[in-house]
Amino acid sequence: MTAPQSLFLASGNPHKVRELQELSDQAGLRLRFHSAKEIGGMPDVVEDTGTFEGNARKKAHALRALVPPHAWVLADDSGICVDALEGGPGVESAYFAGPENDDDANLTKLIEVMRSVPTAQRGAHYVCVLYLIAKHGGEHVFEGKCHGQLAVKPTGKGGFGYDPLFVPDGFTDTFGVLPATTKQELSHRGAAWQKLARWMANKLDEET
Ligand code: IMP
Repeated sequence: MTAPQSLFLASGNPHKVRELQELSDQAGLRLRFHSAKEIGGMPDVVEDTGTFEGNARKKAHALRALVPPHAWVLADDSGICVDALEGGPGVESAYFAGPENDDDANLTKLIEVMRSVPTAQRGAHYVCVLYLIAKHGGEHVFEGKCHGQLAVKPTGKGGFGYDPLFVPDGFTDTFGVLPATTKQELSHRGAAWQKLARWMANKLDEET
């Protein structure tokens, strides 16, 4: 069996690296995920393009300049789009409560701004764009969404970010309560990943 190929993730977020490595293993892909931290950290990237794809592309190119030859590079940009906030915080999800990128503060702010919004208007969806630069430079984009509702009170400690408030369609519990395996099956990152994995299954040994 061939050795796994290296894929560097343009993120220092250990939750994302872990979720994607697990998804890759489940898909039977021979990939070893590395965090940008292993090569000195993710370079500073101003996420100012206004789109998930544009931001993911910027992150992927910034990291590609640093990775070893013939490594794959994957950048993820994601966020939560809330109907009552006209799609916000969207691409600003990581900085909703300020520039510190503090998950707890962001969650607290979302609870506050949604406090008086009635149940029928609490729809929201997560979006994830995966931007892949293949080992020989080809660029490919995969998008996934996960629709649901925002609870009034946070529950559970699973997942990260806004998960304690997000109830995916068809469920009554939040991603904070549901098992990690359920989140992987339903989530925006899982959906984008399934598209990427289907595409990648035959590509790992090709000149892509
Ligand atoms: P990014 O690192 O620029 O993609 O920012 C993503 C932000 O969106 C995170 O900081 C979270 O606030 C939020 N987010 C994205 N995906 C998830 C998820 O799966 N669960 C909870 N929050 C998420």
